[in-house]
Amino acid sequence: MKVTERLESTYRNLAPRWNQQGGDAAYIPDHRTASAGFAPRSLSLSFTHLNSLLLDRDLAHLYGVEDLVKRLLFPVETSFYINPQAVRVCAVKAPGDINRNDQQLLRRTEEPGTDHNARVWVLKCRQCLNIYGSNSTDGWERKCPKCQKGKAGLTVPTERDGEDWTREEHIIAFQLYNKIEFGTIHMRNPEVIELAALLGRTVGSASLKLANFSRLDPFLKRRNIKGLPHGAKGEEAVWFEFARDPEWLAFESERLLAEREGRSVEEVAQIETDDLPPPGKEREVIVRVRVNQSFFRRRVLSAYGFRCCVTGFSVRPLLVASHIIPWAIDHTNRLNPRNGLCLNALHDRAFDSHLMWIEPDFVIRLSPDLRRVTAESKQTVEWLLSFDGKQLILPKRFQPDCELLAKHALGARKKLELIRL
Ligand SMILES: [Zn+2]
Repeated sequence: MKVTERLESTYRNLAPRWNQQGGDAAYIPDHRTASAGFAPRSLSLSFTHLNSLLLDRDLAHLYGVEDLVKRLLFPVETSFYINPQAVRVCAVKAPGDINRNDQQLLRRTEEPGTDHNARVWVLKCRQCLNIYGSNSTDGWERKCPKCQKGKAGLTVPTERDGEDWTREEHIIAFQLYNKIEFGTIHMRNPEVIELAALLGRTVGSASLKLANFSRLDPFLKRRNIKGLPHGAKGEEAVWFEFARDPEWLAFESERLLAEREGRSVEEVAQIETDDLPPPGKEREVIVRVRVNQSFFRRRVLSAYGFRCCVTGFSVRPLLVASHIIPWAIDHTNRLNPRNGLCLNALHDRAFDSHLMWIEPDFVIRLSPDLRRVTAESKQTVEWLLSFDGKQLILPKRFQPDCELLAKHALGARKKLELIRL
């Protein structure tokens, strides 16, 4: 038996075991014996996930293992490659997988491609966010047509166009509606383009859906900004479902999006994961809370156009979505964006510790107690105090709730009296 045949029979024996354990194999053959004409002596298996397979680079080349693995391990339409640095075979087959040129598989479609037997895949360049179609047969090696001089992309299929929007699609669109900056719902916005590509709909139809949500936004209604007429019932259903149980729906919307994109909910919601406990009940609870906090943060920050409502400051890492009435105290308003203010980190702390409050007519007040400071702090305090009596910069939607502001201001005044006494 030739070495290639032995190798092939080894793989044949192993494949069912890999599949059984839902895993992946690290295959480390003894290079000398193998190249001397013997079957690999040492085979070690470690199961992580099916997307990567460790191989000896020279052997892979020598025996055409790339082809072999492709035939034995993965479905026919799967394409994968051998990364020359990591000596790793990575499959590009499911949404979320990233190819060797940093192109992410966004969606697989059943639409015929231009290659023999190929289907169209929708890819997203992780470097310039360009979205385009490719053949399933070359998705693994595709380069971005826009920033990597790859060949022109295929048309992104819009096969769902004209069909009714499902509840799930509505929830995913609602998720984006809440996070998109006000006034940027248009057909050139990359986030709108991505939503359309993800759902298999035209960009026009996706942006119309987002605009329809603003029709239901009570604050925009009051300002007489009307959404487009003929909105579907589905938007209304999701809107009211959110009003009834915001914490459940906010998490659900992130989860559905993560599932579609083949990413983790932690990644989609961009939450810190370094300090999380290992998978289990405890982790689930913390992730749920953080995902919801992140939903609130994006919702508030995007409403304010990513600018501090006291100073106009716009350096994003220093901006905080501050709760007017804290998360722990008021359960019903945890995710209510009208219980939020976009503040820079210092004014956020001042607001939180009642050294600053906002009058119901949106006039900013800073505590006179701030004046009792040492000479070294004088300059910073002068800066903080310079906003006293100024008008709050109001957001384009989700204007802060005056009742909640009044409640917070009352707390600040009480504290001031206590200090005076
Ligand atoms: Zn690109």
